[in-house]
Amino acid sequence: MPPSPWLVPITAIRRSPGVRRHEQRSGPVGKLVDGDPLVVAGTSVPAGAEAEADVDLDVIVGGIEVSGEVSAPWQGECRRCLRPVGGELHAEVREIYRPRTASSDDDEETYPLSGEQLDLAPLVRDALLLALPLAPLCRPDCAGLCPICGADLADGPCGCEHAPTDPRWAVLDDLKPRGRG
Ligand SMILES: [Zn+2]
Ligand SMILES: [Zn+2]
Repeated sequence: MPPSPWLVPITAIRRSPGVRRHEQRSGPVGKLVDGDPLVVAGTSVPAGAEAEADVDLDVIVGGIEVSGEVSAPWQGECRRCLRPVGGELHAEVREIYRPRTASSDDDEETYPLSGEQLDLAPLVRDALLLALPLAPLCRPDCAGLCPICGADLADGPCGCEHAPTDPRWAVLDDLKPRGRG
């Protein structure tokens, strides 16, 4: 197996505190950690997709701060019509890596630092997971599927008799501002 593209050697960085170090790394992220693809509620970063980290490393007291941007393509299904949708994720990151000590083993605020390498993979993975859209739409006004026949309403009316308003939503209609149109 080739070495992970997300491992950054930190020996030199640690020797020169105060000097910001820029790192640009890219590679697949889906299979680097745990072997699972990144998936949230039907949207995902495809397992073989190229993610990118464009970050600065700063030596701080007791650790290293990593800040910058993480990006990757994503894909999923429109929440309303189920057509494939996708795009590019961009996430700002600012995280701290610290060596683990006995008292900080369960420190969930920071990433572990061990040996002479800093592993960007968990940071990239976490940032992308948080950035994945939970309920993507193919377009903001997607008409969705007919609840009766399942036809894609973007293709035009399906001919079904649609009940004017579900009584459960009548309350919400009453809350809508009036006097428009
Ligand atoms: Zn749609
Ligand atoms: Zn229909």
